[in-house]
Amino acid sequence: MKYLLVVGDGMADYPVPNLDNLTPLQAAYKPNMDSIAAKGRNGLLRTAHKDLKPGSDTAILSVLGYDPRRFYTGRGPFEAAARGIQLKEKDTAFRCNLITEKNGILVDYSADHITSRDSSKLIEALKKTLEKPNEIEFFSGLDYRHFLILRNSPNSLLIECTPPHDAVGAEISTVLPKAKSPEAEKTASLLREAILKSKKILESHPVNVARQKSGKKPGNMIWPWGGGKKPSLPSFKEKYGLKAAVISAVDLVKGIGIYTGMKIIDVPGATGRDDTNYEGKADYALKALEDNDLVFIHVEAPDEAGHAKDYKLKVKTIEDFDKRLLGRILKGLREPYAIAVLPDHPTPIRIGTHTKDPVPFAIQSPFLGADNVQKFDEFSAANGAFGLVKQEGLISLLIASAQTTNQIKR
Ligand SMILES: [Zn+2]
Repeated sequence: MKYLLVVGDGMADYPVPNLDNLTPLQAAYKPNMDSIAAKGRNGLLRTAHKDLKPGSDTAILSVLGYDPRRFYTGRGPFEAAARGIQLKEKDTAFRCNLITEKNGILVDYSADHITSRDSSKLIEALKKTLEKPNEIEFFSGLDYRHFLILRNSPNSLLIECTPPHDAVGAEISTVLPKAKSPEAEKTASLLREAILKSKKILESHPVNVARQKSGKKPGNMIWPWGGGKKPSLPSFKEKYGLKAAVISAVDLVKGIGIYTGMKIIDVPGATGRDDTNYEGKADYALKALEDNDLVFIHVEAPDEAGHAKDYKLKVKTIEDFDKRLLGRILKGLREPYAIAVLPDHPTPIRIGTHTKDPVPFAIQSPFLGADNVQKFDEFSAANGAFGLVKQEGLISLLIASAQTTNQIKR
């Protein structure tokens, strides 16, 4: 028996007036997801926890059966792992965006989507000037997404860092890192100092001078956020006895794969956007099933469409996900399989960010009888046989669905 876990990031939504008050999942033509819903059993899954912000970091841990309240301290270490950055026990890894500051305002969280070609030179300049080995170190990532590592930093988790995408338009001085308790003040001021000094170094850098000449916004300041300690997670194999692989374009998801001992499969042309290589992901997933028990496939594009508040694009990404990825996988599968399809969290068009609403899921397996649900969407799934499932409950249901004792008469 083989297992597939297929996640369309942020697919779930609310009814959209421009779609005749249907959700993008309801409006999309998606025969493959509907077939899994009709042949299998359905339910709603809570992937968000009460005291944690909803997002892919905690939701995907939860979907994989790891309680983020226990295993999650921040997204930085997961993303850093995907870039090959090693952490020691006392280190804290922060995501470090290159942003655009103008007249004291944070105007762009991505410095005009600066490319790695420009940004790597800026990070290099910071390494030469701001880096203090064994205290504060910088690492280049992709495009505007870089890393700041505090070595041997006590109390670094007691600092409130505003994610830059939530601070666009804000006065920098009001959103700088803040200590949540007095003992973290020293570390918080180290971060604030690095941010303010980075402006002086980056503003006049030739890369930024050239960017401004050609009408592009400069990457003239760093913005650390998402700090976390090196996570310690039991491997997926240890936990469930299944050898697993992950396919995703997104560093965060790859990093979760690394820390849970999954094989990371890189697919050429996988971008994390709507131009991603859906067919390639399907083909690599089928290939990965040959020597893995479970393949986890993650597609970022619907989430991006949700953030962009673009309902047409969201419907298109769901249709591409269904036809070009899921359909191709289903056609190519040879062995008996159990498959689960779901979003990790909703990213409703109306609000452009993640919510804590439960998400629809469907599980199909040769040993699992169907319920009465015919379609895969937020409302149909509510009538499914699984009902409302608690956080971290999905993987056990998927694995149990492949046990013959579950067989029921149709
Ligand atoms: Zn998102």
